Amino acid sequence: MDSQEFRQAGKRMVDYVADYWDELRTGQRRPLPPVKPGYLNELMPEAPTKPDGWDRIFQDLEPMIMNGNTNWHHPHFFAYFPTACSYPAIAADILSGGISAVGFTWKSCPSMTELEMSTLDWLVDLLGLPQHFKNAAEGPGCGIIQSTASDATLIAIFAARATAVEKIKVFPSFFERVASSKVGETIKTLLSKVRQNTVEEETNECAALPYYHDPTVFEKFVAYCSDQAHSSVEKGAMLAGIRLRKLTSSLDEQLGNYALTKETLEKAIKEDRAKGLIPFMLIATVGTTSTCGVDHLEEIGPVCNKEGIWLHVDAAYAGSFLICPEFHYLAKGMEFVDSYNFNAHKCLMMNFDCSPMWFKNGAHIVKYFNVDPLYLKHEHQATASDYRHFQVALGRRFRSLKIWFVLRSLGVARLQEYLRGVSKISKIVTFYFNKILIL
Ligand code: PLP
Repeated sequence: MDSQEFRQAGKRMVDYVADYWDELRTGQRRPLPPVKPGYLNELMPEAPTKPDGWDRIFQDLEPMIMNGNTNWHHPHFFAYFPTACSYPAIAADILSGGISAVGFTWKSCPSMTELEMSTLDWLVDLLGLPQHFKNAAEGPGCGIIQSTASDATLIAIFAARATAVEKIKVFPSFFERVASSKVGETIKTLLSKVRQNTVEEETNECAALPYYHDPTVFEKFVAYCSDQAHSSVEKGAMLAGIRLRKLTSSLDEQLGNYALTKETLEKAIKEDRAKGLIPFMLIATVGTTSTCGVDHLEEIGPVCNKEGIWLHVDAAYAGSFLICPEFHYLAKGMEFVDSYNFNAHKCLMMNFDCSPMWFKNGAHIVKYFNVDPLYLKHEHQATASDYRHFQVALGRRFRSLKIWFVLRSLGVARLQEYLRGVSKISKIVTFYFNKILIL
C-alpha cells in the first residue's frame, strides 16, 4: 500500500466507522453478537502468502469481525461499566497510530511527554485534585497516563512496597515508632537483620537487587482494601507477592452504599502488628464497582499518614465525575493520598485506553523503577521527564492526544453536561431498581 492507496483506504475506513456509529444509534445493529465460541476459526483461511486487495479485506469486515463484535456503545448495552467515546477521541487514536511514536523518554518523543504533562496538569485543576500532583508544581508530584486502572494499582503497590522496604532499611527507627510497643517478633528480628547488614547492595554472581526491592523485608508486608474493592487489587497484590487483607465495609448512611471506616482500618492495623505483620499500604476506592461505595479519604487518610501506610486511591470509573464541581465532595481528603488513578476511558468521552495517575512523590518512583541501559540515555535526562520510569512497559503511545482533542473540541461544559445526564439516569435506574427489589 502506498500513500495514495492509504488515503483512499483510510477515508473509506473513517466513513465505515462513521456509518457504524450512525447504525448503532438508529438500531441497525444489536448490542450482542449472535456468535458461539470458535466462530471465527471456522471462517479463517490459511495465512495469506500473497497480498489481498483492500476491497476484499473490507468485504470480510462485516461477516468476520463486526458479526462477532459486542457493541459496547449501543444504546441498549448496559453490561459492565459505562464506556464513553467521542469522535475527537477516535481522531486522536488515528493520529497516535498514524505517527506511531513510542515516547518512553523525553527524547524519544518530546511532544508526547510534554503534552501528557500539560494535559494532566489541566486535569488536576478540572478535577479539583491537590496542586502538589501537578507536573509543573514545585516539588516531586507528577502525573502520567497508564493504560489501565489495573496497571496503576500494580505500579502503586510496587512503589509502596519499595518505599516501605526503604524506610525499614534506611530509617528503621521510623518503623519502630509507627509499629509501637506491640510490635511483633518479626519486626524486631527484621530490624536487627537490617541493622547488621544492609543498605549495602548484595554482591554475588547474580545482578545485585536494589536494597529497596529486598524480598526478605517485604515477606511480612500486608496491604488492605475493602471487601468492595475491584478484583484488580487482588491481582496486583498477588503479582507483587504481598498479602492482601480485605476489610469488611460498612453501610454508609449518607450515600447508601458500602465503605471502609477508620475504625475498621485501625483495628486491622493493630491486629496485624500484633501478629508480626507489617501494614504498608491501603488501596481505597472512590466508586466501587458493585455499589459505587466511597471510602472516606478524609477519615482514613490521616490514619494512613500517621501509621506510615501508603494510600492509593482507585477511582477507576467514578473519577471522571469529579469534573463536575458538585461531586468534588466525594474526594475530600485527597491531600492524604500518595497515588491516585481514574479511567478517563470510562466516562470522560474517551475510548480505551487512557488512565491518568498521579503521585505525590514521583522522585521515589524514578529511583525504584529505574534501569539505565546506555541505549536509553540522552543529553536532557537530568532536566526532562522520562515516563519510562513510571510504568512497567518501556514503550508507550500518545494517549494524551485524546485528552487534548476531547477537552478542546467538546469543552469542559459539554463533558459536565454529559456526566450530569449520566448521573441523573443512574439515580432514576437505582430508584426503580430499589423499588423492584422491595416489591
Ligand atoms: N477499579 C474499579 C473500581 C473498576 O470499576 C474497574 C473496572 O471496571 C477497574 C478497577 C479495572 O479497570 P481496568 O480495566 O482499567 O484495569
